[in-house]
Amino acid sequence: MTELVDIHRAYRDDLLKHGLLISMGVDGLYGRSGLFEKVVEGINAAFSKVGDADAPEVMRFPPGIGKWQLEQSGYLKSSPQLVGTIHSFNGGDADHRAMLETLEKGGDWTANQRTTQVALAPAACYGVYPAVGARGRMGEQGALVDCYTYCFRHEPSLDPARMQMFRQREHVRLGSEAQALAFRKTWMERGQAIITSFGLPFEVDVANDPFFGRTGRLLAASQREESLKFELLVPIHAKEHPTACCSFNYHRDLFGRAWGIETAAGTPAHTACVGFGVERITLALFKHHGFAVEKWPEKVRGVLGL
Ligand code: ZN
Repeated sequence: MTELVDIHRAYRDDLLKHGLLISMGVDGLYGRSGLFEKVVEGINAAFSKVGDADAPEVMRFPPGIGKWQLEQSGYLKSSPQLVGTIHSFNGGDADHRAMLETLEKGGDWTANQRTTQVALAPAACYGVYPAVGARGRMGEQGALVDCYTYCFRHEPSLDPARMQMFRQREHVRLGSEAQALAFRKTWMERGQAIITSFGLPFEVDVANDPFFGRTGRLLAASQREESLKFELLVPIHAKEHPTACCSFNYHRDLFGRAWGIETAAGTPAHTACVGFGVERITLALFKHHGFAVEKWPEKVRGVLGL
């Protein structure tokens, strides 16, 4: 029987061989070719074509968030194993010489690196909540934000669909409970229509985030029980191990409380977000339609502008 890890490696090596991904010598960290990026742009354009009708406010953040934002978000409590922080050299001449000597000997030259004020973004929407919270009370309409950025999760893998640095395109809704839930319902339908237009098979299922440890197991169970997270899964490697390509999340008032985001009524806002994993969808497209884009179904190429 072929192990899943061998299937992962085989597809990863195929992508490298065809030049779609560029090796950087670290599992889960890759460059992308021009063709790969053209497909990514097509996916983003298809997302915009549907989502722009709602006239969302556009926010673009760098792949880093403030360390204080990471602390205040609660992410360290739920998922410490995925966190990335940025460290930098912080010494004098003697420290520098010692560092280079250690490097020369093949030792751990990072021992004297110190944390900076920057952490890596775990999800595209993490920049949005503090920004909206800082504005003061929202109007009756709440807020709707379109965001897109590179995210980091510390989970090195041979699976090309589990990258350490990848992009999420999201819409985030902030408002009343009813507004957040209506938004998620609409996007669950839209998400399925968009993936159908890409000619990909999928299923939608209730899901949980990869929370850490014993408390994490309880968090995951209640997240499922309350149907807070749904995923759209596409089989990339094997039918019985489909990959989450889109997620539809309802956070109740978790972020509303964490960031002091207030509804017009003065209560903590409820929030929801829909996220498209653009690399995963791209990998699914190459898997299902082949490496020769000119041979993809004409309808799919039309949707993606290829
Ligand atoms: Zn999100």
